[in-house]
Amino acid sequence: MAAEIGPMASGPERTRIADLSAGALMASTATRLTDAGSETARLDAELLVSHAFARDRTWLHAHPDASLDDETARELDGWIERRAGGEPVAYIRGFKEWFGLRVTTDRRALIPRPETELLAESAIAEVAARLVRDERVVAVWDVATGGGAVALALALRFRAPLALGRMRLLASDLSPDALELASENFAAHGVAQLVTVQVSDLLGEDGATSAEQSLRADLVTANLPYVTSAEVSAARGSLAFEPRLALDGGADGLDALRRLVAQLPQRLAPGGVALLEVAARQAPSVRAEAERLPVPVAVTQIPDLAGIERVVRIARLDA
Ligand code: GLN
Repeated sequence: MAAEIGPMASGPERTRIADLSAGALMASTATRLTDAGSETARLDAELLVSHAFARDRTWLHAHPDASLDDETARELDGWIERRAGGEPVAYIRGFKEWFGLRVTTDRRALIPRPETELLAESAIAEVAARLVRDERVVAVWDVATGGGAVALALALRFRAPLALGRMRLLASDLSPDALELASENFAAHGVAQLVTVQVSDLLGEDGATSAEQSLRADLVTANLPYVTSAEVSAARGSLAFEPRLALDGGADGLDALRRLVAQLPQRLAPGGVALLEVAARQAPSVRAEAERLPVPVAVTQIPDLAGIERVVRIARLDA
């Protein structure tokens, strides 16, 4: 039955959501978000409305006549307002589906992006190859882990080797807030015992009391901030809601990547590999940095499905 949010409602005075059927809600939400300038209004509407019904989008399409109670409708109304103000859906819903995982998201860290699935896949392939190659322990360091998505994907894929001590996994970040979110994600997926978290400025010495800080990683993974300062400052919409620390890579976007590459001779074990996510067109610059290192390296640029090189693989050859 259709209900009304009228003057007696304690929420917004204006009647925004008159018909509370799923179909009508989707249509009106999409219109509101289009008017607000969202380029993904229809998808946003489906995600927010299905979230209000606590169902997925498929269910929503199959149940256009399902109706929402007034209280939930008012809650939805608040979410739509936030989205209309540019806030990303993932912050409003509190999670993002990424790499087949439900990753908790909030303003403490960057929202995991589809392009970062390439980094996770490449890292999984790298670890798998090492585990079968010989009996040695594989030490992995996910630098600037943010909300912990990449480390989470690794921990879930390699639960057994981690539990057996064949693999070690360190997730670090400069932001204690981000690390807290990462820890919550590890706990929510039952892998908190398998991941060491550590505050650290890239591969630096902060908190050097920890034994993990003397770690020489066999695999370093990093999705560092690589957007140019100008682009971050000009950003409207989603980027404006995310932590600047996670995005701003300086004048050319390469500040953090350059610093990290320079740390590799100390921190990457001989024979080790670093996998670095980069923005489109940054790969050649990162490769050039790596080829200037005082250790021998082989650099490959890994393309995504669209053929854009989004991951740079730096392998130390002095095994
Ligand atoms: N891929 C993100 C974006 O372009 C940036 C993430 C980052 O700086 N690592 O929105």
